Amino acid sequence: MTSKTYIVEHLDDELGPWSELEYLTIARESHEAGAKFCLSSVPPSLELPATLKAAPGFTADGQSVEVLYAQDKSRVCLLDPSATKELSPEDGSAFDVFLFGGILGDDPPRDRTSELRKKGFACRRLGPKQMTTDTAVRVTRIIVQEKVPLEKISYVDYPELRINKNESTEMPFRYVKGSNGEPIMPEGMVDLIKKDSEKGFGDLF
Ligand code: SAM
Repeated sequence: MTSKTYIVEHLDDELGPWSELEYLTIARESHEAGAKFCLSSVPPSLELPATLKAAPGFTADGQSVEVLYAQDKSRVCLLDPSATKELSPEDGSAFDVFLFGGILGDDPPRDRTSELRKKGFACRRLGPKQMTTDTAVRVTRIIVQEKVPLEKISYVDYPELRINKNESTEMPFRYVKGSNGEPIMPEGMVDLIKKDSEKGFGDLF
């Protein structure tokens, strides 16, 4: 069977440290699972972090997904929180390219995935709760490559992270539950969240 490709279409103006950690994780996990990862629509003016460029499994493309797959639109499935149909293991046979919005999560969600919806690809949902982009790719991979149905995956919703002795912050996302019972997050993310939450989150998610 054709190997799977996970495409994150870059939609933010910048590529900040949160996205960098998310994309590094997507690259590593895709590589380990024998899949490809492409960050598409990267403007020439955007200097990608060196760690990302060097990551095994990471590729970038200046073209947007509708140009890359102009002749093969039916191979592409957009993961869209507003889709009416949930992603299923059978979709792993129908599609080999899975597309995600390269957007940091926001609360309440601003539906920036709509920018990709307009392009007219088939869409599927991963349940009603907003996931981080790396979580959405992880869940998609578990469903289409490991053939585990969406509802059989264990999740942690809205985990609370302790920032210091007196403060904690609730992450407004759904995560996959790791074997230790903790939400799976990119390496370095908890420290980054702690550091940023001391400054105030602002627009970070
Ligand atoms: N608030 C965001 C928005 O404006 O659409 C959601 C962004 S989410 C952090 C990044 C990407 O992950 C989305 O564009 C989508 O591809 C995928 N995603 C996250 N949660 C999802 C869900 N429940 N169902 C389908 N896709 C999801």
